[in-house]
Amino acid sequence: MKNDIIIAIDGHSSTGKSTLAKELAKILNYIYIDTGAMYRAVTYYALQKHLISTNHLDKKQLINDLDKIQIDFKFNSDKGFTEVYLNGQNIEKEIRQMQVSNFVSQIATIPEVRKKLVAQQRKIGQQKGIVMDGRDIGSVVFPEAELKIFMTALPEIRAKRRYLELLDKGEDINYNDVLSNVLKRDKIDSQRSISPLIMTDDAIKIDNSHLSRKEQLKAVLKLAEKKINRN
Ligand code: C5P
Repeated sequence: MKNDIIIAIDGHSSTGKSTLAKELAKILNYIYIDTGAMYRAVTYYALQKHLISTNHLDKKQLINDLDKIQIDFKFNSDKGFTEVYLNGQNIEKEIRQMQVSNFVSQIATIPEVRKKLVAQQRKIGQQKGIVMDGRDIGSVVFPEAELKIFMTALPEIRAKRRYLELLDKGEDINYNDVLSNVLKRDKIDSQRSISPLIMTDDAIKIDNSHLSRKEQLKAVLKLAEKKINRN
């Protein structure tokens, strides 16, 4: 019998988690949720309200404002995937900018922020048939997920991929800044006390340093189909 499952994709920054998750969701006809986009949306809000900058974070005000932060996902049929909205505004483009990347890991260490976003993520995943990517999906959000993937790659390769992506989007950027952002986020994400990035015992590790997108998709799709048909 065929049954919908939860697929959790965790791993280091810029390992192509969302690309893989989007492709999988499309093929399986599942819902795709980019949880990094949710942390980025809160960061974007904090930047807009001047609650965060270098050497400054008004944590108290941000926590107070959490009730005013409404994050939604809407399916974009032209693009074929869901996009993130902050209080009704599509912020998909804004949240990918380096300014947001530079502060997001700091925002993601705030327990109240995580509590709010994890509750929303669990609610979305209730009916299964979902591919969710992030840092704590297999460990905290859905420890019961039927398939857990942990993605990694060499930092220099990840930084190069992200650098080319940002250049393509017209950002004025240099490779060394992207590499230091990737390394810094890895460090904060892995060492924070709340929901750190870890690979759970039941996760399958994929190092895609030397894998093509197609090879990676084929491997994970095979694993997913096995689980779906077994359920
Ligand atoms: O996946 P992405 O790189 O867009 O995530 C941005 C940041 O959000 C991560 O570096 C991490 O600090 C945080 N994050 C998190 N937990 C998640 C997803 C993202 O802490 N589930």
